Amino acid sequence: MGRAFVYVILGGGVAAGYAALEFTNRGVSHGELCIISEEPVAPYERPALSKGFLLPEDPARLPAFHTCVGANEEKLTPTWYIEHGIELILGTRVKSADVRRKTLLTAAGETISYKFLIIATGARALKLEEFGVNGSDAENVCHLRDLADAARLVDLMQASTGGKAVVIGGGYIGMEVAASLVINNINVSMVFPEPHCNCKFL
Ligand SMILES: Cc1cc2nc3c(=O)[nH]c(=O)nc-3n(C[C@H](O)[C@H](O)[C@H](O)COP(=O)(O)OP(=O)(O)OC[C@H]3O[C@@H](n4cnc5c(N)ncnc54)[C@H](O)[C@@H]3O)c2cc1C
Repeated sequence: MGRAFVYVILGGGVAAGYAALEFTNRGVSHGELCIISEEPVAPYERPALSKGFLLPEDPARLPAFHTCVGANEEKLTPTWYIEHGIELILGTRVKSADVRRKTLLTAAGETISYKFLIIATGARALKLEEFGVNGSDAENVCHLRDLADAARLVDLMQASTGGKAVVIGGGYIGMEVAASLVINNINVSMVFPEPHCNCKFL
C-alpha cells in the first residue's frame, strides 16, 4: 500500500494552488493534504505562459509566477508547501481511480489513498488530429498549455527571428501569442473560423 492522505487534489494547476492556500487558511494539519500533478513543477499562474513568459526582455520565469498572485501576491513556492506540510507529488500521472476503495493508481504503479478527493485536472489544448488533420507532433508545430509548451515556443521564437508564423485560434490565447510573436520580431498570420477575433468579456 502506498501513501495515504485525508485530502488529495488531483491536478497541480491554478485551482490546486489556490485550493492549497485556502486549505492552510482553514488550518489543514501537516501531512493531511497532497497534490498530485503530471507537471514537474509546483502550481503556477498558467496565464503567464502567453504573456510575460514570452517576452524577449526580462521574461517571467519560475518561481516568480507560482500561484497565488491573485491572493495578496503570496507565492506558493516548493518551500512554502514543505513549510505547510503539504506533499507535492510532481511529474506523476494518475491513470485510474477506484472511488469505492478511495484510491488512485499512478502511471508509476503507486496506489495513493484519500478520504476526500478534489479533481482539478483542468483542460488541454485541442490537437490538429481532432480537426481531422495529421501533424500535431511535426517539427515547428507548437501547442500552448503548459510550461514545457511555452519553453519550446520560446526556443523556436529565438531561433526564428525575422521569420513567419501562423497562429491557429483567434481567442485570447491566440491574440496574446500573436502579439508576443510580433514583439519577438516574427511576422504573424492568424487563422480562425469566425469573421473577427473572439475575445469576449463575459
Ligand atoms: C496560455 C494560457 C493563457 C491563459 N490566460 C488566461 C487569462 O489571461 N485569464 C484567465 O482567466 N485564464 C487564462 N487561462 C486559462 C486558465 O489558465 C485556466 O482557466 C486555469 O489554468 C484552469 O485551472 P485548473 O487548475 O482548473 O486547470 P489547469 O491549470 O489546466 O491544471 C490542471 C492540472 O492537472 C494536471 N493533470 C491533468 N490530468 C492529470 C492526471 N491524470 N494526473 C495528474 N495530473 C493531471 C495537469 O498536468 C495540470 O497541472 C489561460 C490558459 C492558458 C493555457
